[in-house]
Amino acid sequence: SIREELIESIRTIPDYPSKGILFRDITTLLKDAKAFRRAVDALVQPYAGSKIDQIAGIEARGFILGGAVAHQLSAGFVPVRKKGKLPAATVEQEYELEYGSDVIEMHRDAIQSGEKVILVDDLIATGGTADAAVHLLRNVGADIVAACFIIDLPDLGGRAKLEKLDVPVRTLVEFP
Ligand code: 5GP
Repeated sequence: SIREELIESIRTIPDYPSKGILFRDITTLLKDAKAFRRAVDALVQPYAGSKIDQIAGIEARGFILGGAVAHQLSAGFVPVRKKGKLPAATVEQEYELEYGSDVIEMHRDAIQSGEKVILVDDLIATGGTADAAVHLLRNVGADIVAACFIIDLPDLGGRAKLEKLDVPVRTLVEFP
């Protein structure tokens, strides 16, 4: 099945970036031409034929997937970045990390009020990053159609967090 094929194409690195973490590495999926195409096709499949204005991709792996998704859906692409990387006027959103906090930004004029937007990243864990992106997008009036990720770590609660905000979540594979 496509699910098994994708799981096999994802590499797991123990103790990265810190001891006790099992890092799910999608570079092995991306360099596998079939797996990359299948992942993108499967992600966009529910939205094919509907009018999506913009794909918002989260730095950095969300840029790679989001660009491919935008092309497939004939949508634009908008980068959501770590603070200090975007050149024009931005809106920003702070979010909590395990230790401390971080800030993500988007260009203020990137999304017009009422535009239909799909949020894309490679993986959802606690949902902290995606939750901040949802707030950022809604603050400029985006109509968020869905949030799409290749990988869900359901035990960390990210999907539930987004669904509480009435954001439909699409994921392709889960890791315990
Ligand atoms: P969250 O904010 O949901 O806790 O973490 C998700 C964010 O961290 C995403 O931007 C994702 O790219 C990154 N991330 C966290 N853990 C992993 C992992 O095991 N593999 C990959 N590829 N990204 C991860």
